[in-house]
Amino acid sequence: MLIVKKFGGSSVANKERIFRVAERCIEEYKKGNDVVVVLSAMGDTTDELLAKAADINPNAPKRELDMLLTTGEQVSVSLMAMAMHALGVSAVSLNAYQVMMHSTSRYGNARFKRIDSERIRHELDSRKIVIVTGFQGVNKYDDYTTLGRGGSDTTAVALAAALRADACEIYTDVDGVYTADPRVVKNARKLKEITYDEMLELATSGAKVLHNRSVEMAKKYGVQLVVRSSLNLEEGTTVKEVAKMEKMLISGVAGDKNTARISVLGVSDQPGVAFKIFHTLAKNNINVDIILQSVGREGTKDISFTVSQEDLKPALAILEEYQEPMTIREIKWEDTVAKISIVGAGMMSNPGVAAKLFESLYNNGININMISTSEIRITVLIDEKEIDKAMQAVHDGFGLGDV
Ligand code: ADP
Ligand code: ASP
Ligand code: MG
Repeated sequence: MLIVKKFGGSSVANKERIFRVAERCIEEYKKGNDVVVVLSAMGDTTDELLAKAADINPNAPKRELDMLLTTGEQVSVSLMAMAMHALGVSAVSLNAYQVMMHSTSRYGNARFKRIDSERIRHELDSRKIVIVTGFQGVNKYDDYTTLGRGGSDTTAVALAAALRADACEIYTDVDGVYTADPRVVKNARKLKEITYDEMLELATSGAKVLHNRSVEMAKKYGVQLVVRSSLNLEEGTTVKEVAKMEKMLISGVAGDKNTARISVLGVSDQPGVAFKIFHTLAKNNINVDIILQSVGREGTKDISFTVSQEDLKPALAILEEYQEPMTIREIKWEDTVAKISIVGAGMMSNPGVAAKLFESLYNNGININMISTSEIRITVLIDEKEIDKAMQAVHDGFGLGDV
């Protein structure tokens, strides 16, 4: 069997944990399996590198940021190979350039295009454990790129797909995918299984246990994922096409504080205005999430929408630059908002799910600012200060917790 095992930053945060991971991988290897290990940077390394960069230059070129960030993963993979050698097993660490993991050119948010498998195959054939840097790619300029925060999960899935691995295991600091972030909702329950679609919605809505692109890619290539703890032997959660869910209306709740709301007021109420605004934002790579348009009055209307906090400043700069041609009278914004989402395939065939969500929030005095829905998700925008209370309230409202 060929097994891809990915370990997150906290799982390789110190010497003891590195050896624990090394031993776990060696155990698999000694059963006669081929083992490919994907690692994130140790502990908070990526945050520390970002802070260092901001200290030198808050507007650092994105290319240089990626050059810096990719060093974090290079440290963890080389140390892991050394640990395995210390335990008497032959291992080799490889970065994205050595494997050749081709990505799109966009620094800070690249996507994989193609992955060469020869080097890894060659190393596996000589019975080495292969340890690959997560989170990084190489673009057409031969520069390093990164895949966005949490992107090591995507490296693991991409390698599992390219190598046609028999298993792809994501080891982290919780026992699996829960009905809500177990650090926020204490009685959250671990799911045995979850579908790709539900997991994708949860990940996109802020459940950072898996990078959303990793789930997208797993679905596309049919890579079944297992999410489990690097600290114990508990069974974990399987992410796959069809899940035998217990009869549940919704499978999880997610919160996301990384959001900001922008309102453009008094724009003229005629065809083409919304197009102009959102086309210009999209052209500048700004992802717009929830959109709300007011009823027109006296020839004008207001449009509100949300963006991620990183995109707030650039979005405002664009709107200010084009304020006149976009017919915007006034621009307002706030960054103390948060999104709470419920996800579940069950809501497709059950009316009343939205009402129950609103009731749970209302019972806890939480005001709703904006609402958006997909087939299997409902998201509402609330005050950031209330997000933890809201998560618990909604989780309880739907009876998701352990009894
Ligand atoms: P890693 O470093 O292993 O990639 P992350 O910090 O990226 O780990 O993701 C794991 C974290 O995701 C957990 O510690 C947990 O707080 C958080 N999390 C958020 N939502 C969920 C959820 N629904 N189930 C499990 N963990 C979740
Ligand atoms: N080290 C990177 C980050 O912190 C990638 C990852 O952890 O998946 O975002
Ligand atoms: Mg992660």
